[in-house]
Amino acid sequence: MSKPLAPLGRFDGKVVLVTGAASGIGAATVERIAREGGTLLCADLQADAVRASAKRAVELGASAEAIVSDVSDPVQVAASVAACIDHFGRIDVLCNIAGILRFDHTHEMPLADWNQIIGVNLTGTFLMCQAALPHLLETRGNIVNTSSTSALKGLPYAAAYGASKAGVLALTAAIATEYGRKGVRANAVCPGSITTPMTSQPSFPEGANMRLVMRHSPLDEFRGPETVASLIAFLASDDAVHINGEHVRVDGASLS
Ligand code: NAP
Repeated sequence: MSKPLAPLGRFDGKVVLVTGAASGIGAATVERIAREGGTLLCADLQADAVRASAKRAVELGASAEAIVSDVSDPVQVAASVAACIDHFGRIDVLCNIAGILRFDHTHEMPLADWNQIIGVNLTGTFLMCQAALPHLLETRGNIVNTSSTSALKGLPYAAAYGASKAGVLALTAAIATEYGRKGVRANAVCPGSITTPMTSQPSFPEGANMRLVMRHSPLDEFRGPETVASLIAFLASDDAVHINGEHVRVDGASLS
C-alpha cells in the first residue's frame, strides 16, 4: 500500500475567501485548502451547511469562519469581504465557486431565470472580484473563478448558464491582463460534469433530447468534486505563480 502524501502546506499563512463553500466543489475546496494550511472565510447562501464547512476546516486544524452571503447582492458581497478582513486582516486568494444551474428550452426561458443565472454566476463573480481586488492588490494575491465546459462547447437547454460561464472566462482574462503587472493573477477552472448536489437531480424541460446533453468522459470515476478542488488549489497556490489569465478544463476529456 502506498504511503499517504505529506501535507503540502501551500496555504500556510494565506487567507482564502471561498464562495459556494457550503456544498459540492466549494466544500471540497474548503477542505483541500484547510488540509494545506490555509485560513478560510467560507461564504454561501446555505446557513447551516456553510457553518458545517467552516467547522470541518477547523477540525482539520485550520482557522475558519462562515458567513451567509448572496454573491449577487453588492451589499452582502461587501459584508463578506469586510468579514474576511475583520476576522483575518487580509485576503490572499478569492475562489469564486458559488453558482446555479437551470435547464430550459432557450425559446421558453423566462427572462427572470436568465437574469437570475447571469446575476449569480457572472455578476456575482464580478462583484466578488471587484470587492476583493483592493485587498488582493495589497497581498499580491490571486483569483480562481469557476467557469464550465458549457462555456467552451454548447450545452443544450443551458443558454443562460453557458453564457454566464463564458462571461466568467472573459472577466477572468480581463482581470488577469489589467492587474497582472500589479502582482494579482486571475485564472478559471472549467469543470465538466461533476457529481455534486447541483447535478444530482437535474430537471430537464419536457421534450429535451438527452442524447444532446450526455457527455461521457473516459475517466468518469474521477467526477468527484475533489478533482476540481485540487485544480483550484493548484491555481491558487504559488505553484501556479506564472499562470495568469488561463482556463483549465477538468472534465476527463469529455469534450475531446
Ligand atoms: P452546488 O453543490 O450546488 O454548490 C453551489 C453552492 O453555491 C450551493 O451551496 C449554493 O446554494 C451556493 N449558491 C448558489 N447561489 C448563491 C448565491 N447567490 N450566493 C452564494 N452562494 C450561492 O454546486 P457545484 O456543483 O459544487 O458547483 C459549484 C460551481 O461549479 C458552480 O459555479 C457551478 O456552476 C460550477 N460547475 C459545476 C459543475 C458540475 O457538474 N457540478 C460543472 C461545471 C461547473 P444553493 O444550494 O442554495 O443554490
